[in-house]
Amino acid sequence: MQVLILGSGVIGTSVAYYLARAGHAVTVLERQPAPALETSFGNAGEVSPGYSAPWAGPGVPVKAIKWMLMQHSPLVIKPMLDPAMWRWGLSMLRNCTQARYELNKGRMVRLAEYSRDCLKALRADTGIRYDERMQGTLQLFRTQAQLDGTAKDVEVLKASGVPYQVLDRDGCVLHEPALGAVKDKFVGGLRLPGDETGDCFKFTQALAKLAEAEGVQFRFGVNIQALEHEAGKGVTAVRTDQGSFTADRYVVALGSYSPALVRPLGIDLPVYPVKGFSITVPITDASGAPESTVMDETFKVAVTRLGDRIRVGGTAQLSGFDLALDARRRDTLEHVVTDLFPRGGPVRDASFWTGLRPMTPDGTPVIGATRVPNLLLSTGHGTLGWTMAAGTGRVMADLVAGRAPEIDMEGLTVARYGG
Ligand SMILES: Cc1cc2nc3c(=O)[nH]c(=O)nc-3n(C[C@H](O)[C@H](O)[C@H](O)COP(=O)(O)OP(=O)(O)OC[C@H]3O[C@@H](n4cnc5c(N)ncnc54)[C@H](O)[C@@H]3O)c2cc1C
Repeated sequence: MQVLILGSGVIGTSVAYYLARAGHAVTVLERQPAPALETSFGNAGEVSPGYSAPWAGPGVPVKAIKWMLMQHSPLVIKPMLDPAMWRWGLSMLRNCTQARYELNKGRMVRLAEYSRDCLKALRADTGIRYDERMQGTLQLFRTQAQLDGTAKDVEVLKASGVPYQVLDRDGCVLHEPALGAVKDKFVGGLRLPGDETGDCFKFTQALAKLAEAEGVQFRFGVNIQALEHEAGKGVTAVRTDQGSFTADRYVVALGSYSPALVRPLGIDLPVYPVKGFSITVPITDASGAPESTVMDETFKVAVTRLGDRIRVGGTAQLSGFDLALDARRRDTLEHVVTDLFPRGGPVRDASFWTGLRPMTPDGTPVIGATRVPNLLLSTGHGTLGWTMAAGTGRVMADLVAGRAPEIDMEGLTVARYGG
């Protein structure tokens, strides 16, 4: 079967790879000159099924107000006359009940755990390298109240069968020795030994090479403009600035830019760009750097070891598609890494980056079929696109081939929004 994949972020590239492995003729259209140059470029590097949870949860509306008043705020809202933003925000608020949280988390964990298994299998099959580490992740608590508050999370982890360790100061230092120098800054942590880390950009670039070897054609520098469609037939072509492209099946994996493309087909996709930032610091003293990911719970900033660099990522900012680099967000990231890993490397030499998380209001991605017969979606991965990429690729390949995926698709498709 001929399949066109729209978008070559970590999601589109993973889908392309698994489809080619399954024997399909795959072409990928991408506006950038190479894969993973937008949101998949500079993320925090966590492959973290253990932290797969929606941002919308009980107590979040109150916490959100507190966060916005902090000096180094994890949440920034720039009020705009953007109906899509307000609709998305209201829908997110409706997901802040305990019942919705549990439902959404269950769906996310299902895909994320599967994805981690697919990633392991992919590594074993191909030997793919991406500054990967398998040393778990550590959520670090600066206050006793935060540590005590883990009881609820621990219940959920237990119920989902996710291994975890609640650690005191010394326990944290055992896994992250560099924290030994700043023991007075925190009281303890929650470690998820099953989590992994790695550079999403390097992974996607390497996977694209493997996909090419399987016959995938990447067409870079192609701007997708619209989907041409006919009632009864579905999508008939993809219109771009370089002419039209046709196939038997079309997969939309354009991250935050997906909704605008499918709206004319009557698909209302509530994916909104949630802006995040990262800095990448060269390591000058490895003994002062993290071993894996340390997630600072107070600032919601993740500090991750990626080879000879430290990646520091965080902030959720609602400001539409604006990609400006805001110096205040850099200050927050620098503050956290110098506070916890003062000897790791010089923050003045760090590169600064921003990306748009393609977020759904319930945190769960939108993958699979639509009511347009030959059109599939693979977007809305929000905070966890790197974590969920391999599993998404595998599921999509099964669906295109007409096979039942290995995981239950309940709640993962656009049908949950009536699309
Ligand atoms: C600060 C930050 C930290 C994060 N940390 C983590 C983490 O630790 N772990 C994790 O799992 N996830 C993390 N994420 C989330 C993760 O990075 C995203 O979920 C993931 O990159 C989304 O991938 P994607 O392929 O859907 O989107 P993208 O990477 O944005 O890919 C979409 C592609 O479509 C292309 N495109 C769009 N429009 C067009 C068009 N009209 N024509 C042609 N091409 C087009 C774009 O160029 C792009 O390459 C983080 C995100 C941010 C911002």
